[in-house]
Amino acid sequence: MIVLKFGGTSVESPEKIDRILDIANSQIDRAPVLISSAMGKTTNKIEEIMTYAVLGDRENAYSLTDEIKDLHLKTAESFLTGGILESAHADIVELISQFSSLVKGLTLLHECSPRSRDALLSFGELLSTRIIASRAIERGINTELLDSRNLIKTDENFNAAIPQLDKTDEAVRSSVYPEPLKLIVAQGFISSTEKGVTTTLGRGGSDYSATLIGSALSAQEVQIWTDVDGIMTSDPRFVKGAKTIKSITYSEAGELAFFGAKVVHPSTIQPAVKQQIPVLVKNSHNPEAAGTAILSVVDDKGVKAITGKKAVTVVSITSSHMLHAYGFLKNIFTIFDRYRTPVDLISTSEVSVSMTIENIDQVENIIRELEDMGTVTVEYHKAIICLVGQELWKDSVFVSRVFSNLNGTPIRMISLGASDTNLSIVVPEEKMVETIQSLHDEFF
Ligand code: ADP
Ligand code: ASP
Ligand code: MG
Repeated sequence: MIVLKFGGTSVESPEKIDRILDIANSQIDRAPVLISSAMGKTTNKIEEIMTYAVLGDRENAYSLTDEIKDLHLKTAESFLTGGILESAHADIVELISQFSSLVKGLTLLHECSPRSRDALLSFGELLSTRIIASRAIERGINTELLDSRNLIKTDENFNAAIPQLDKTDEAVRSSVYPEPLKLIVAQGFISSTEKGVTTTLGRGGSDYSATLIGSALSAQEVQIWTDVDGIMTSDPRFVKGAKTIKSITYSEAGELAFFGAKVVHPSTIQPAVKQQIPVLVKNSHNPEAAGTAILSVVDDKGVKAITGKKAVTVVSITSSHMLHAYGFLKNIFTIFDRYRTPVDLISTSEVSVSMTIENIDQVENIIRELEDMGTVTVEYHKAIICLVGQELWKDSVFVSRVFSNLNGTPIRMISLGASDTNLSIVVPEEKMVETIQSLHDEFF
């Protein structure tokens, strides 16, 4: 069997939905499971609705809800007929009515808990897949629509829930039966707790849904269909001359995703690695292009891609107690751990440690506790630039090429060699794009 995942831009209109069904149908003998995101920018719109609702701004919340309703009803009406249209229409109206009741609740309470947020966000994928499955049936494809909340089982960490792998494997294997000449359709992004409460895997999480399901069913291949020709040497929105990469290893792709390449969700690779499932990244608007293959072994070494991540904060602590002492780092990380704040990059010297974090919700508490151990400084608005490639540290010329092409951008932190596949530097946020461009011009 294979898994095909389509992102929002791949399903944003009736024409695009037909195109992705062509792609799935052309591989129908491979027992496909189709995972879809919400249509177009629906998830962003739901986020906006929640913001308006919490402010008590009913007018805007309801008018955006109407836009979502219109998009889905018009799409259904444009390519469904007879009984198939009637039942899809009724289901869309019912889903929107449930959604509106929740929105109304938020406007009354002026509050949106993480649990409510996930409940609302799930409607984007529930609506899109209802339409896609109906259109597949209309086109004569043998189709089964499943609810991913019964497949992906997670903890209760709403908004970025962590899948429980054994339970997910069990649930998937006992309810998904792919076979040639049948198309199974299910939602990306959405999941549920053991008690059946709706959760989500975090923004962009549909990619992760695809590899979780692929891994549970030992898929031959997972295909991530998006709006660019594959994983590129840098983000084509900001960097001129970005090129598609033919093949890349799991660890390179994992680093890229973690350090900002939005093209795949950072957790996507993990489930595929376990079973060595090839992941192909392809363009649904240009299916003929070869795309990028993510594999366990790839021969070529050297820099593969350069990514950047903004809104990074550097927390540093300096203390003479650190000199020749042990247990100091442990005490520092215990504090970050207590406030559930992951540290991304670290660099240390005799008497100081600098760490980068992304989530600053708890930064004040963290600083307060760190201050008991030494002098603490916090620098906001930094960016991490990450050069990804196998065995970079073995190339002595590589590092000098990096430093000669920074155009005077000051470096706050450096990390090379920790993962074998990346060199990361921390720079001022406003210098990120120009620095990436300059490095990209040098290496590609
Ligand atoms: P989807 O809705 O299909 O999941 P996303 O918007 O999440 O699509 O991801 C695709 C986008 O990722 C591309 O349009 C591109 O702008 C961005 N992107 C960022 N970095 C890269 C990269 N290194 N290679 C390709 N695309 C990238
Ligand atoms: N629809 C969700 C989002 O926009 C999940 C996804 O597209 O991967 O974040
Ligand atoms: Mg995405």
